[in-house]
Amino acid sequence: MTDLADFAARLTALTNGRASTPRVKEGVMTIVLDVAGLSPDSRDGLAAAIREGGLTVPGVTDVRIAQTAERKPLRILAVASGKGGVGKSTLSANLAVALHRLGLRVGLVDADIYGPSQARLMGSEDQKPIARDKKLIPVTGTLGIPMLSMAHLVEPGKALAWRGPMVGNALTQLIDAEWGDVDLLVVDMPPGTGDIQLTMVQKHKPAGAVIVSTPQDLALIDATRAVSLFGQAGVPMVGLVENMAGYACPHCGEISDPFGQGGAESTADDLSMPFLGRIPLAIDIRRRSDAGDPPAAGDGPYAEAFTAIAKKVAAWLG
Ligand code: ADP
Repeated sequence: MTDLADFAARLTALTNGRASTPRVKEGVMTIVLDVAGLSPDSRDGLAAAIREGGLTVPGVTDVRIAQTAERKPLRILAVASGKGGVGKSTLSANLAVALHRLGLRVGLVDADIYGPSQARLMGSEDQKPIARDKKLIPVTGTLGIPMLSMAHLVEPGKALAWRGPMVGNALTQLIDAEWGDVDLLVVDMPPGTGDIQLTMVQKHKPAGAVIVSTPQDLALIDATRAVSLFGQAGVPMVGLVENMAGYACPHCGEISDPFGQGGAESTADDLSMPFLGRIPLAIDIRRRSDAGDPPAAGDGPYAEAFTAIAKKVAAWLG
């Protein structure tokens, strides 16, 4: 009997058959542990005992235990963009609100470490999450939507100095929070293709990604990079949203297209992904967003524009 086989046998006894066969790759032992029905203390005790035992197997330098049933099957919808300032946070907030109004059990995670803004967008700036059994309990945003933000974990600006693993752990704390009956998490991703994106696609495996872009060519080129990051990781594309498309003059109502027209639609075509719709550039959207009153929570053309996109997303999710 090898040491690993020996340990596997001990593991079965130790966990009452709750553990998978341990696998070792490049010194890292991985074990899936079914923790259904165990108290947080017994889970922690069991995990610690497994870790201790695993590290006695020659060649093993790290033991990773994936606890199943600790988290309900929570589907993640990543909202991403190639660059900042295109309205990704605005879309995430309004999409969460519109999906909630369609009857989905939605939570919102602000993973935009560079400029977390969801607390302001969702009118929850005065709330702080508390922790229970080492899990964060979300605060409540517009329409009672539970939400958590990077801003809850770190002072604005400080996170920029964080290195990969810290950033990844922060994201995991937000996603593995006590989400109650939420079964869909809308995650406002940071722009670009950094550590959060990697942790997201490798560890949390989104059910799908929505990409936001403005109509300018440069934004669209950046958007294709975001698309390819998710594509390479096997994350399905829900589609592309064009934001700040067409400017409605608040005086005469005339629509102009300062950044051109149709660019996002043809980019979506080129990338063989669905085009989900466009949101106009409108002062009212900016004003209401700043006031913590997402337009999707009200009525009128902007609410309709967000709802139309939410319906396509809901249909895609099934
Ligand atoms: P990102 O998350 O991509 O950095 P934000 O959602 O924070 O972008 O939006 C950047 C700024 O543009 C914010 O001030 C926001 O209110 C504004 N904004 C976003 N979308 C629109 C829109 N469709 N019309 C008017 N202002 C918008």
